[in-house]
Amino acid sequence: MDYDILPGVFDILPENKKEGWRSSALWQKLEELIRTTCQAFGYEEIRTPIFERSELFLRSSGETTDIVSKELYRFVDKGERDVALRPEGTAPALRLFKDQDQEWQKHHRKLFYMGPMFRYDRPQAGRYRQFHQFGVEVLGASDPEVDVEVIDLLFTLFSRIGLKGLKLELNSLGTLASRENYLKGLVEYYTPFLKRLSLDSVRRLETNPLRILDSKDPHDKEINKGAPSILEYLDEPSKAHFEKVKEWLTKLNIPFVINPNLVRGLDYYNQTVFEVVTDQLGSQNSVGGGGRFDSLLKMLGGPDLPGFGFAAGLERVIQTILKQEIFFLPPKGPELVVIPLGEKSLETGYQLVRTLRQANIASVIDFSKKKLSKRLQEAHDIGAERVIILGDEECEKGEAKIKIMESGKELLLPLSEIPSYLSLETKLPSLSQESKRLSELSKTKSLQETSSDLANLSKKFDTIHQNLKNLSVQSMDTNA
Ligand code: AMP
Repeated sequence: MDYDILPGVFDILPENKKEGWRSSALWQKLEELIRTTCQAFGYEEIRTPIFERSELFLRSSGETTDIVSKELYRFVDKGERDVALRPEGTAPALRLFKDQDQEWQKHHRKLFYMGPMFRYDRPQAGRYRQFHQFGVEVLGASDPEVDVEVIDLLFTLFSRIGLKGLKLELNSLGTLASRENYLKGLVEYYTPFLKRLSLDSVRRLETNPLRILDSKDPHDKEINKGAPSILEYLDEPSKAHFEKVKEWLTKLNIPFVINPNLVRGLDYYNQTVFEVVTDQLGSQNSVGGGGRFDSLLKMLGGPDLPGFGFAAGLERVIQTILKQEIFFLPPKGPELVVIPLGEKSLETGYQLVRTLRQANIASVIDFSKKKLSKRLQEAHDIGAERVIILGDEECEKGEAKIKIMESGKELLLPLSEIPSYLSLETKLPSLSQESKRLSELSKTKSLQETSSDLANLSKKFDTIHQNLKNLSVQSMDTNA
């Protein structure tokens, strides 16, 4: 029996030296930034199941799309239901919206999600069968300014991370009516090339000619160069919508390039579509993308409300962070190990660790009865900065020894003083790391943003000060 991990999926480890992007600390940090950025823009989180009825994706993405026709993880469950692992997050978000009562649907909703998606694609660097997306959907608003605000959210996140050199590609697919005209124009253009087009594209000419523009085939790409532009087919309202989007992006200093061949892989888009690409990841260069889907909710049986959203791939964002060598400091693990040497000190040691954890000082206790030298070596190996050595005799006197690993210095302290001592000692390095991060960030951020970070830092100082005060009250209580 072979228990090897399946192709196209991966594990995330606490720290992965060989493939840094698979380190959980980086994921946690990115996920936290995504949540705070979405919340700062007024988005609320939703979590949908990772499997849904297959019909949801057949109906929304379109049966001829690659996502559905080739890549869907689809099975029949024990209740004979046709089920699929979600390949994307928009259709489930809209299904969730449709399932709520009218009161809930009445409000314009700004939703975000984050989680694994599944596509049975050919595995390669930057392309996995289980990957992670975060995405946002605005439901119930059709204003072009909304399109821009959503794009602004993505770029605000990228700027908070410190990512550089990302290119925003923009296009408009117009209304469904103007697209019909364009499709006719495309069929007219491609028909004389039938013999030179790839087999896939010949098929697409019948099913959805728009997607030939997306083709990666070199011959198709050559032919695509002469294809009519969708922008020439836009009707007046679509033109006005697109102009507004461009005007606002320019006002907000978000640079973009128009790519008339950008049609995105799914059928449900209309008006604005966009993609963010990086030059750091080779052929899998798209970090995220999205667009407007004004008829999708109705198509899925919900109310006739417009929508706009995007999805971005977490793997590719983290890989770009590492490629650009961005200072992306992950939270640190336990820096303190408590080593009890006897029966009595084991209990005292555990009580001490509980107090420390309540004060948010990450600490581990070594329950093994191994030799002290071995246990010190293990503490060193996991990167502990300090160990507390508890002998039975010292415990009885209410004392313990703190050893600073780097200098080898030892300090004998009353047990009751240890939490307040450590609170100060362990929080100061993290503050110095924080200020290092801020000085790095100030190179990439505006003064205003940096000063708001400084205000947060000063709040942290206040909290620590308060914690210390509480701890000294606690230790006075213990003494009493
Ligand atoms: P899509 O839903 O195809 O528009 O994809 C949105 C984003 O998800 C892309 O820009 C990628 O960053 C990411 N993505 C899509 N498919 C994969 C995959 N198979 N593996 C890793 N990331 C993916």
